[in-house]
Amino acid sequence: MLRRSHKKFRGGCLECKRRHVKCDGRRPVCLLCTMSERDCSYPSQAPPEKLSPSDSSSQEQSISPGDNHSQGLDEAINLNHMELLVHVASDKSMFNLGHSPNDYPSDLFIALKKGLKAPYLMYMLLAFSARHLAFLHPQQSAFYLHQAMTLQTRAVSLFNAAWTGVDQSNCVAVLGFSSILGHHLLADTLAKRDPGGLEGFISHYTQCVEMHRGIHTIATNAWPLLMATELQPILSLSADFTSRAPRGNHCQRIRELVDTANGLGEEDKEACRLAIQYLQVGFDAVLAEEEQSNRYQMIFSWTMLVPPEFTRLLAAKRPEVLVLLAYYSLLLHYGRNLWQVGDAGAYILGIIVDYLGPEWDHWLEYPRERITRKPL
Ligand SMILES: [Zn+2]
Ligand SMILES: [Zn+2]
Repeated sequence: MLRRSHKKFRGGCLECKRRHVKCDGRRPVCLLCTMSERDCSYPSQAPPEKLSPSDSSSQEQSISPGDNHSQGLDEAINLNHMELLVHVASDKSMFNLGHSPNDYPSDLFIALKKGLKAPYLMYMLLAFSARHLAFLHPQQSAFYLHQAMTLQTRAVSLFNAAWTGVDQSNCVAVLGFSSILGHHLLADTLAKRDPGGLEGFISHYTQCVEMHRGIHTIATNAWPLLMATELQPILSLSADFTSRAPRGNHCQRIRELVDTANGLGEEDKEACRLAIQYLQVGFDAVLAEEEQSNRYQMIFSWTMLVPPEFTRLLAAKRPEVLVLLAYYSLLLHYGRNLWQVGDAGAYILGIIVDYLGPEWDHWLEYPRERITRKPL
């Protein structure tokens, strides 16, 4: 049961291998190394890896490390890109996990304007647009998903080629790039229905969390710079939200479980308490009548804000932490009308219930009752 699948690491970079995290195998620099600013390298003997089976037919796979600068928008632009751009500009629901849809036009125009000067941001926007279109048009999802993956890969290599650190001139573009990437990865992760059940999901989700931590680090480091840009009002709102004090007691039972867990050290418990605190802020927002702009933000932010110890416990599939994840699945369930979420909450709860077995029923009762009853 505890046997680790080495298959998963095939084609991964050396850095990810060293850190025992799942690598996406992207070349020349993998995504995790991009987001955490680590030096990425691959074993020199390894044959070049395809990104995924669905990409195998692509001619655009021939992106080589030296090609980065010849991949400007001008060279690659076509009507497919125009469709994606039109979609970005016309569909408000694309970014509905962020802040208020009312802010959307101004945010978007900032991103589009910056994207003209920072092609990695433009490609990232187009990639996410393709990802959304894949959801909207299931019959053409293979086409759009392929487009999404190709554009995202191009965005990442342009980003790596341009990267010299964050400064006043690029901080908005860098934040835009990394947060759109974060939204894209979360949408992908929540849409996964891995035959490996919980094992498979945890592996995808912890990779997503690692990546989001990279985004958080970038945002934190660039914070003083960002506060002097046009994003200041939006970012302040978002920071006010995540630093709110929890109000409700929806997480009472999971808090009790964590407090009384014999197998968790004090540091582990602190990490869990912090994760619970953010979850409660999420429940407060989702269940409050008057909440407008931040209702679903914690679905995204939670993945970014949970402390590293928490991810470690999750990867180890500690039962208490899986119960905590079941509470997050309830938060997802409340957001099931969002395109990125859908039935992910019910799915995740299901694989947790199956994994933990009946002796954990008492602790899972709260999220379980609500997900089955569909109260919202
Ligand atoms: Zn890697
Ligand atoms: Zn790497």
